[in-house]
Amino acid sequence: MATLILHPGKEKSVLRRHPWLFSGAVARLDGRARPGDTVDVVSHEGRPLGRAAWSPASQIRARMWSFAADETIDHAFFKRRVAASVARRAALPELAGQQGLRLIHAESDGLPGVIADRYGDTVVVQLTTAGADKWRAAIADSLQKATGCARIYERSDVEVRSLEGLESVTGWLHGAAPEGDIVIDESGVRMAVDIVGGHKTGFYLDQRENRRRVAQLARDRRVLNCFCYTAGFSLQALAGGAREVVSMDSSGPALATAQRNLALNPQLEAARALWREADVFAELRNLRAAGERYDLVILDPPKFANTAAHADRAARAYKDINLHAMQLLAPGGLLMTYSCSGGVDAELFRKIVAGAALDAGRTARVVQHLHGAADHPVDLAFPEGEYLKGLLLQVD
Ligand code: SAH
Repeated sequence: MATLILHPGKEKSVLRRHPWLFSGAVARLDGRARPGDTVDVVSHEGRPLGRAAWSPASQIRARMWSFAADETIDHAFFKRRVAASVARRAALPELAGQQGLRLIHAESDGLPGVIADRYGDTVVVQLTTAGADKWRAAIADSLQKATGCARIYERSDVEVRSLEGLESVTGWLHGAAPEGDIVIDESGVRMAVDIVGGHKTGFYLDQRENRRRVAQLARDRRVLNCFCYTAGFSLQALAGGAREVVSMDSSGPALATAQRNLALNPQLEAARALWREADVFAELRNLRAAGERYDLVILDPPKFANTAAHADRAARAYKDINLHAMQLLAPGGLLMTYSCSGGVDAELFRKIVAGAALDAGRTARVVQHLHGAADHPVDLAFPEGEYLKGLLLQVD
């Protein structure tokens, strides 16, 4: 096994159990390693720090698999880590019975580069790093053993793989395509999940609890759901007794799935749902010009900034939509607003939204801080894991 030697002092973050080793921390590699190979990690003085996956193409040159210098990284290692990850979900009552569930949340579950989401008896896995890619077979086998699932599909078709020098990979790792659609029940609402063509692994599981919150808040309100994707928030608003729900997205296919999802739920009052295929930035202005007013506005946009380097541009975009959303709110109305940009932290997001309120001439009060659901845990040693942050605001 090759040995990765750090520059003096660069062991500090590893000792705090942060799993990433950037190129600037690496002094040299003793021995030969191919992408994804396991390497020993040692401080400049030779102190053993653990074992990591080597990613020569990436600025994150290595990711720690283990902080124990003598832990063997083999099939049994993945079996243990995957089983522990699945067991953590089973131990939380709000997660135990979920049909749609994130089983592995990468770094925060001790498995950098590994995402696994369960939809009924189908598991979708996404491998984003050279290390994860190398252990595909062990990870799939461990998932099958830990869950007893009927099939496993790989959705490793994300942009970040190119930073690792990896191609897109998709296909069945276990079992075969099910007959008919994959449909999950989420908080009493049936949702179709397009694991092959949908976003991420097909569905935004991270917003499950926040969608439930919308059901609690929606009664008799006029709701505007911006960036609705397949209408998760919209259908919970209808389930919660909303007077009307306007759902907006620029993606025709997402809206088509959204309307199919509505049809899957005959208990909901379909006549209260209105759809707009539109660019949110432009349409918020149009709605204002038309004199529309809403009692609850949801803003769940896509990532505007992957890294802090793009935070400026992202900040302008967040400010724009939050300002215009506030202007559409009736006095006392609610704004549920999110950022899932890694480059914008909770503090910055709050400042941006505060600036939007100021410019909109409205007083906005935080009544709740919102986060990803419990199956998207955040390892305290890995603050980057906290990508989703939201605010529930009451706006005078
Ligand atoms: N709230 C959703 C997830 C939203 S994902 C849920 O709970 O499932 C973000 C969505 O924003 C995607 O569906 C994408 O098509 C849409 N989108 C991206 N840019 C947009 C724009 N400028 N205007 C409207 N929709 C946009």
